[in-house]
Amino acid sequence: MIERVFESLMVVDPAADESALVERIAELERVKSAAAAGQARAAAALDAARRATEAAAGVPTARRARRVASEIALARRDSPVRGNRHLGLAKALVHEMPHTLAALEAGVLTEWRATLIVRESACLDLDDRRVLDAELCADPADLDGMGDARVAAAAKTIAYRLDPQAVVDRAAKADTERTVTIRPAPDTMTYLTALLPVAQGVAVYAALRRQADVCADGRSSGQVMADTLVERVTGRSAALPTPIAVHLVVSDETLLSGGSTPAQIGGYGPIPAAVARGLVAGAATDARSRATLRRLYAHPASGALVAMESRARLFPRGLAAFIELRDQRCRTPYCDAPIRHRDHARPWASGGATNAGNGLGMCERCNYVKDVAGWHVEPSIDEKHRHTAEFTTPTGAQYRSEAPPLPRTPSRIEISELEVAVGIAISDLHAA
Ligand SMILES: [Zn+2]
Repeated sequence: MIERVFESLMVVDPAADESALVERIAELERVKSAAAAGQARAAAALDAARRATEAAAGVPTARRARRVASEIALARRDSPVRGNRHLGLAKALVHEMPHTLAALEAGVLTEWRATLIVRESACLDLDDRRVLDAELCADPADLDGMGDARVAAAAKTIAYRLDPQAVVDRAAKADTERTVTIRPAPDTMTYLTALLPVAQGVAVYAALRRQADVCADGRSSGQVMADTLVERVTGRSAALPTPIAVHLVVSDETLLSGGSTPAQIGGYGPIPAAVARGLVAGAATDARSRATLRRLYAHPASGALVAMESRARLFPRGLAAFIELRDQRCRTPYCDAPIRHRDHARPWASGGATNAGNGLGMCERCNYVKDVAGWHVEPSIDEKHRHTAEFTTPTGAQYRSEAPPLPRTPSRIEISELEVAVGIAISDLHAA
């Protein structure tokens, strides 16, 4: 049945005239919105069903349906953070905002625009939220031609009029969410993002701008601003090596014989071989830096794998470092958050061993989720010698997580049946 639906969706007649093709694109866009509305109804129903089951089992109200968002994330192949957003959207639409839901069902709103409306109304009480829902979405014609920014602005305007104090309170709360994050950019660059209260953000930018205005040494103003940011935050010149530990994993061939297999920087991702060699050479020759070598043993056929048995409850430092290098990011499928915990896949309390095979790199949120009743994680080494973990959720749905391959090495150095890859930790690059 569902296969037939998919088939009918994929039918496109390449010989159709152009207006028919445009109409087909519009039609399929409506299908996506309608599917999002269906997902919202299913998500809200799942949440309600789980609450009912747990109520019957005597679970206290505050503890019911606690990890449903993570299950929704896995089912949608999305990160747990987005799963949370999807569930919030679903409950708001189904229980509180019928007009917004109807507009989504009719394809007048996209899922993202419905999310923006729910987000802007989140600070209101239920009655006001219903007023906003009707005012903005009761007449679909009003939404015609409105892009993301206009939809958000319209919702914000109504919310501000209905309850100005709530919006002010929310702004005060948003202040507590200030943070700094990092993510890879193309060409071995990186985006460092600061989410700041507007006054501070503007002040930081103005200070960098001012420095760029007084500096006339041939650098572009963007370059001066970036260098100044690095200098003032780290306390040293941007032209000198950054005084922190950088973990680099590189194959012996790449390092020693000019190979081209990319290397990996922990918390960043792959970098070209030549850049990695430059980084190592720089650290090795700079008097204030220290480059240390650590060998990681990789299976010849795949990548990762080193067993370090230990009876300790906490993962020993070396093992934790190994798991971090092997997993690179949270092992929950689609999560991709930085690793904060190195923990047991099979819990210690149920006899799970403290070793690399049973260790998983997880973000904080996912680590707590996997210890909730009904969740089960089974680690193993698959037929290609990769470290895998099978996640089972309370509904019995299963998702597979695979450790990313480490830089492959064609090395001839053999230690028993393992071949060796070289892991290099350029650590403690502090001035001696
Ligand atoms: Zn995670």
